[in-house]
Amino acid sequence: MSIAENLAAIKEQLKNHVTLVAVSKTFPVEAIQEAYQAGQRIFGENRVQELLPKYEALPKDIEWHLIGHLQTNKVKSIAPFISLIHSVDSLKLLEEINKEALKNNRVIDCLLQMYIAKEETKFGLDFEETRALLNSSEYAALPNIRIVGLMGMATNTPDASVVRQEFKSLLTFFNELKQSVFNNTPSFKEISMGMSGDYKMAIEEGSTMIRVGSSIFGVR
Ligand SMILES: *Cc1c(COP(=O)(O)O)cnc(C)c1O
Repeated sequence: MSIAENLAAIKEQLKNHVTLVAVSKTFPVEAIQEAYQAGQRIFGENRVQELLPKYEALPKDIEWHLIGHLQTNKVKSIAPFISLIHSVDSLKLLEEINKEALKNNRVIDCLLQMYIAKEETKFGLDFEETRALLNSSEYAALPNIRIVGLMGMATNTPDASVVRQEFKSLLTFFNELKQSVFNNTPSFKEISMGMSGDYKMAIEEGSTMIRVGSSIFGVR
C-alpha cells in the first residue's frame, strides 16, 4: 500500500473530532511530500535535529508537532514555528518555552506528557506532580505558553486490558483538570493518545489526537 492509501484507510476510521498527527521520524522528506500531496498537513517528529532540516525543506503550511523528549537548550530553534509540543514534562521546560515564545512574539501551545505506562523508560509527569505544577505561582506567571491538553503513551504490551486501563486513567485525569484547574476553558481540549498499534482503542477511550507513524510510512 502507498502512503496515500494508508492515510486514506486511517482517516476513514477517524471520528470528526480526532486529529491525525503523521509521525514522520526517520522517514525522508520525499515520504512527507507524498503524504502532503495526499492532503496531510500535520506531522510529528521526536527529535529537534531531525525536525529542523525537514522544516526548512518542506512547505510552510505544514503544522509541525514535537512529540519526543525536549531539552531546554533545543527550545530556541523550534520556538519560531512549532505548532504544538506534546512532550512537556517539567516546569523548567515550560519556563524555557515561555521565554523563547515571548522572544518570537508568540503563544506556544503545549501538552503535558503524563506518565501512565508501567515502564521505567517513559518520560512524563505523574498526576500529583501535574496538579502541583498547574497550581504553582511560577506556572501562573507564564503568559506565552498555553496548555491545551495532555499526552500519554501506554505500556508496550500485548495485554490490551493494561493499555485500555491506562487510556481510561488519562481521560479521567484530563476531566478532573478540565473541571478544576482549567475551569472548563474550551482551549483545554486535547488528549493525545494512540499510536499505530493502539489508536483504535485510544479513540474508543476518548483520544482527540492520535500519533501514527509506521501504519502510514511503513516499518522503521
Ligand atoms: C514514534 C512515536 C509515535 C508513532 O509510533 P508508531 O508506532 O510508528 O505509530 C507516537 N508517539 C511518539 C511519542 C513516538 O515517539
